[in-house]
Parts: sequence; C-alpha cells; structure tokens
Amino acid sequence: MKLNIRQSHTFNLLYPPAPLLGPKVAELRAWWEAEGQTAIDAISQRIGLTFAEQELPAYIHDGPPGGSSDPVNVSVNSKLPLEHVLIHELIHHLLSFNEQGYTYKPFYPEEEPLVDIHVIVHAIHEWYCVTHGKADLIAQDKKHSQKHPAYARSWEIVREEGFVQIVNRLQEAAR
Ligand SMILES: [Zn+2]
Repeated sequence: MKLNIRQSHTFNLLYPPAPLLGPKVAELRAWWEAEGQTAIDAISQRIGLTFAEQELPAYIHDGPPGGSSDPVNVSVNSKLPLEHVLIHELIHHLLSFNEQGYTYKPFYPEEEPLVDIHVIVHAIHEWYCVTHGKADLIAQDKKHSQKHPAYARSWEIVREEGFVQIVNRLQEAAR
C-alpha cells in the first residue's frame, strides 16, 4: 500500500494551517519512506490482513489533537508523536478495509464499543513497538490515555489479557 501523506484543501479551510504544517508533512513523508512503510508491512504480516487499497491518502491538518481512520487523518497538534498517531489510525483502517474481507466483531461485547476496538488496536500497536525497540512510545501512549476513560480501560484489558494473546486471537479471527 502506497501512503500519500498530504494536506487537504477542506481541512485547511476548516483549520487554517500555521506555516509549520508544510514542514511537518515533509517530515512525516521522510519518516514513512525510512520506517513507516516497513512498520505497517510488519503489522500487516503479523495479523494476516492486507490493505484493500493500493494507495491511500493520509491528511495532515492543524485541527484539534488526535486523528481518525476513514479518511486517515492526523492533527499536528496531537500530544503523541505524529508517526505514532498515524500508525494507530492505519491499524484502525486495516481492520476495516482489507483484502481478506475481515470485518471487526467485538472481542469484549460487555465493554463499550470504543473500549473494545481499542483493546485490539492497542494490542497490535504494543506488539509492533515492543518488537521494534519502541516500548517507550507505548509508555507515553498509556500515560496520555489516562485522560480518556475508554482508552485507559482498553489498556487495562490489554495488560490483563496480554497483547500477544489478543494479537493471536485477532490473527485467528482474520483467517
Ligand atoms: Zn483509535
């Protein structure tokens, strides 16, 4: 999957960008070439899902912190490193739009949907970071997530169940 990291006319109208947006986009593109593509390929291979699209846009904007996955977009005002937020959104996207036709079904139906989906996303992200020498990013993410009850709860479940167990369960479900 080729990722086209760029600004969006519509996002720029909604959130007039500071001059720093251009350089940030360039930085993120350089990161994608150096590391991002390999990261998402490793994740894709681990869970057994491949992107439905050959090419995907990823919009970088100056809006409220965070991002979302359809379309993939990330705010430069995010509290966590942009590349970390981008990987998070790409994991969501991969779970929704893949060549295997896998569609997400709750693992923990007794939890709120936002908690449940983030158990899976966080477990995959933790697997990637821990196996690629980036455990410090997960520590940052967990700390930041304490402000958001649903994210905090999902990390708690990941800790109880173990990220490897959850990733294995997803890999089975995606088959
Ligand atoms: Zn998310």
